[in-house]
Amino acid sequence: MYVMKCSKEDRFSEGKLNRFGNIEMSPSAGVLNYGQGLFEGLKAYKREDGCLALFRPEENALRMQKGAERMCMPSPSVEQFVDAVKQTVLANKRWVPPPGKGSLYVRPLLIGSGPVLGLAPAPEYTFLIYASPVGTYFKEGLSPINLFVDDEFHRATPGGTGGVKTISNYAPVLKAQALAKSKGFSDVLYLDSINKRNLEEASSCNVFIVKNDVISTPTIEGTILPGITRKSIIEICPHYGYQIQERPVSVEELMDADEVFCTGTAVVIAPVGSIMYHGKRVEYRSGVETVSQKLYSALTSIQMGLVEDKMGWTVEID
Ligand SMILES: *Cc1c(COP(=O)(O)O)cnc(C)c1O
Repeated sequence: MYVMKCSKEDRFSEGKLNRFGNIEMSPSAGVLNYGQGLFEGLKAYKREDGCLALFRPEENALRMQKGAERMCMPSPSVEQFVDAVKQTVLANKRWVPPPGKGSLYVRPLLIGSGPVLGLAPAPEYTFLIYASPVGTYFKEGLSPINLFVDDEFHRATPGGTGGVKTISNYAPVLKAQALAKSKGFSDVLYLDSINKRNLEEASSCNVFIVKNDVISTPTIEGTILPGITRKSIIEICPHYGYQIQERPVSVEELMDADEVFCTGTAVVIAPVGSIMYHGKRVEYRSGVETVSQKLYSALTSIQMGLVEDKMGWTVEID
């Protein structure tokens, strides 16, 4: 794992690779007491030629910088972040699955590691990266997930931190998620907390609906996490002849959609087979020849280096 520290007044300057293991912190560390922490997630792929590649790592670096600003933390520069990710992947080279069998999931953390008792930013910060091999999410193509539309629990509120990847956004969704899972659903789809009318996203992925070949996804306005997969889908849609709209999407439109899918680094694209809202179940188109299936193969082909990367999204590690 990669570790780099700096004090509140300083900038990150130099980090190093350590053996993976436990880290020591004061019981009064800012992250433990007040949740001052951010995480990121990205994948490294091994290609047929043996070369290792990352997908848009600068986007993760920029997102961490925005989050750090919101959480009163210093953050590594884009260059430091990408370099640290590369070093971590190279050090864990033997754990990167063979082409087509999965990828190395890379998890950067930025935490207030220094002691602080009164409510204030921590005096010291730690940037850490560890990694774990992961399989491809779906073995036989894309298997659809079933979502529960929740209007009781909310993931984020205007003015809050839903738009940044702070660790403190995630424990609060566990209860909503557990309730949905106990009823047989895969995850929760959250609505806006003010009118309980517009779609926001799932616990850890963004949502898209398809109606008459027009693809729509909720606008990012502080309560939705700006996913890099979401952004990539929006950017490749025009190349595949799809019309894409970023706008408020109501739950009524969700009920009336032809197709629904979720996006995130872990799943890439997860087609939604059905949703449940106010006791009403709606089913969607899934399987081959769907928009989500086409976009999934378009995106994964770029990530795995099976097609030429005309978007300039992949970063080779040498
Ligand atoms: C990480 C995350 C996403 C997906 O972002 P990607 O950059 O595509 O992985 C979406 N929603 C939430 C709440 C997330 O934490």
